Amino acid sequence: MKLNITDRFNKELPADPIVGNSRRQVGGACFSYVTPKKPSNPSLVHVSPEMVGALGITEPITSKDFLGVFSGSKVLEGTQPYAMCYGGHQFGNWAGQLGDGRAINLAEVAHNDKTWALQLKGAGETPYSRTADGLAVLRSSIREYLCAEAMYYLGVPTTRSLSIVLSGDQVLRDVMYDGNPAYEKGAIVCRVAPSFIRFGNFEILAAQDDVETLRELADFTIKYHYSYLGEPSKEVYIAFFREIAMKSLEMVIHWQRVGFVHGVMNTDNMSILGLTIDYGPYGWLEGYDHGWTPNTTDKAHKRYRYGTQPQVVLWNLLKLANALYPLIEEVEPLQAILGEYQDKLKITYLTMMRSKLGLYETDTHDQDLVDKLEAVLQRSETDMTIFFRLLADFKKDGSTAGLELVKEAFYNPDEIKGEVELEWNGWFLTYRERLKIEQKDDAERLGGMNAVNPKYVLRNYMAQMAIDAADKGDYSLLDELFNLLKQPYEEQLNMQKWFAKRPEWARNKVGCSM
Ligand code: AMP
Ligand code: MG
Ligand code: MG
Repeated sequence: MKLNITDRFNKELPADPIVGNSRRQVGGACFSYVTPKKPSNPSLVHVSPEMVGALGITEPITSKDFLGVFSGSKVLEGTQPYAMCYGGHQFGNWAGQLGDGRAINLAEVAHNDKTWALQLKGAGETPYSRTADGLAVLRSSIREYLCAEAMYYLGVPTTRSLSIVLSGDQVLRDVMYDGNPAYEKGAIVCRVAPSFIRFGNFEILAAQDDVETLRELADFTIKYHYSYLGEPSKEVYIAFFREIAMKSLEMVIHWQRVGFVHGVMNTDNMSILGLTIDYGPYGWLEGYDHGWTPNTTDKAHKRYRYGTQPQVVLWNLLKLANALYPLIEEVEPLQAILGEYQDKLKITYLTMMRSKLGLYETDTHDQDLVDKLEAVLQRSETDMTIFFRLLADFKKDGSTAGLELVKEAFYNPDEIKGEVELEWNGWFLTYRERLKIEQKDDAERLGGMNAVNPKYVLRNYMAQMAIDAADKGDYSLLDELFNLLKQPYEEQLNMQKWFAKRPEWARNKVGCSM
């Protein structure tokens, strides 16, 4: 396979002197050279044609070469695969060295003025695998593969997916539904991003007091990903931190807009480029609920619930600020940026919610309108996606019966009576009044709303159905969803069956990360 290999990360940053996949603590290095595990009988499950094009791959996806490279059985000529070293705060606690425990970087590739890092997830153990096996199963791989591409087409900054293959090996996992350990099909996703550097790559070096390597990594990241900031200096490191803060804010506001709940926002899962990274136990809001988390291991504290995501990003940024501090040695500028994040969060969130409501003028009561809507949405178990799409049909002239219009969005329409009904009617009255100051007519507002409120998202049960079929060797549903989610804002009337509430069997059922 002929790719335009640039390999900067593993050529310009310090390597672990020990070569090999054995588990160990690594110091003074940003990565370790490793070899992907040879799968016993690889087969292709799905490929993203857009990413094939973006990477400049000319080999047919049905070729031996393609399967070999993206299953890990064949190392690309002129490359040396590696696993990155990072640490992280997991659920609020410093966890020490984590690293790519089941991800192996194949190479960095340049095409069409863009550089992409290619990473196999589930290609076997690395020095960072700790107590786990370095593998991934078809279930979690489909979830990552589909969701990353869906997020991209929703306009959310994210890592991308190139391919998913079966390894032909069986992998031992706890299947959460019945609690019994069971073998599942092993799979490997090739994910792609301009860079997979995380907050945790900086944190581990700061924790090791290795300021020299920390500076090298910061300079490298600035050189290739933030070069517009200029040559590294104290001021540029501060500006670097600010850029990361603003990009992370933008990312999380998109999450709130589309109803995506990441589920494991540990600092090792925070991209230095503000990309959504690591699709594990994520989920999509069905009933609009700030308290919801898809992560079954986080049900007690719900640290990573929908409503707290923007605050968690702030907390994670604080950890990154601490890690970068040795390069800056001044607290105030870092604190000022965290303060700016909080101020911007309020404004950006409101602007985003305004756009969901089709409000383009500003009014001093908008925050109140949003607060009241969020309160009543939560009281009524309302499907977020369906609600906002139906709301777009509201008419300015007051002829719309609001509740009737959005009825289909309620999981329990019979319960919308008494106080809740009054609350809803009150909200629709205020909304109708508010629309009077809008310049746009109904059709323009509808167009605007439908461009920010997706019609189709990867509902948890949809991913599960694709997984169940794929497990039996039928990839047609996976392909159907993949294509559906490429146009999440389009009506796609022949796909209307996916514009539907979660069926009752799927309540609280989401796949897990391992
Ligand atoms: P995550 O919760 O997915 O962000 O993973 C946290 C850490 O555990 C990272 O260092 C992962 O590489 C590692 N990890 C997760 N699953 C596995 C696995 N099956 N084998 C080896 N390492 C893993
Ligand atoms: Mg991770
Ligand atoms: Mg993960």
